Amino acid sequence: MSDRRRINIAVDGFSSCGKSTLAKRLAQALDYTYIDSGAMYRAVALYMLENGLVDQGRLDKAGLLERLPSLKIEFRYDPATGKSATWLNGRNVEREIRGMEVSRYVTLVSPVPEVRAALVDLQRTLGREKGVVMDGRDIGTVVFPDAELKLYMTARPEVRAQRRYDEMLAKGVEVDYASVLENIERRDEDDTKRAADPLIKAPDAVEIDNSDLDQDAQFRLAMELVQRTI
Ligand code: C5P
Repeated sequence: MSDRRRINIAVDGFSSCGKSTLAKRLAQALDYTYIDSGAMYRAVALYMLENGLVDQGRLDKAGLLERLPSLKIEFRYDPATGKSATWLNGRNVEREIRGMEVSRYVTLVSPVPEVRAALVDLQRTLGREKGVVMDGRDIGTVVFPDAELKLYMTARPEVRAQRRYDEMLAKGVEVDYASVLENIERRDEDDTKRAADPLIKAPDAVEIDNSDLDQDAQFRLAMELVQRTI
């Protein structure tokens, strides 16, 4: 594909519907860079939790905004796993940001317009040279409204909860199915109803409901769309 023009691919959708699995696979096949925008919101949520910026479920917004300019979020290759890892202020936080605690609190920080503006800036910088596959909620609508290919992924909540539950068990995280489903349904609600950059399907996005599609079928479908776009 190296002789072909490079494009940006936006992969948006609900929590745990296989966005990152598909996005990573596309990036690998095309020799593009994969960027997990959700990891950035998760890193801000971890910072909030670790720095006493949440009290009884309420965010200390002024405190967070004061420190926001000093937060440094990066992705660095981790030779131990062979994958990219999320770093926050010089520390690898990949494991911490995937836990239930961060999942529970991330929607306190993701609706804050100033947080979004800072992270969208960073995301746009990373996509400036094209050749990026980025997944999230607002990539096709806000971050790269002119992305050449936009995918909008959905799946039934129970299917998503089961996948997430299996994934967490495989990683050795102790969790029960009911709380995973509850978290997914609450985040769907928070992410679609918030005022700032809510999750909506871009008019020019292609919707993929993968409730009954395996990973290979989704990949083939997406690659066909890529070939057509390029
Ligand atoms: O994709 P992931 O589930 O890791 O994202 C965690 C949270 O970050 C989402 O529930 C959402 O609130 C927020 N997010 C967002 N915009 C993005 C990516 C993630 O608001 N582009």
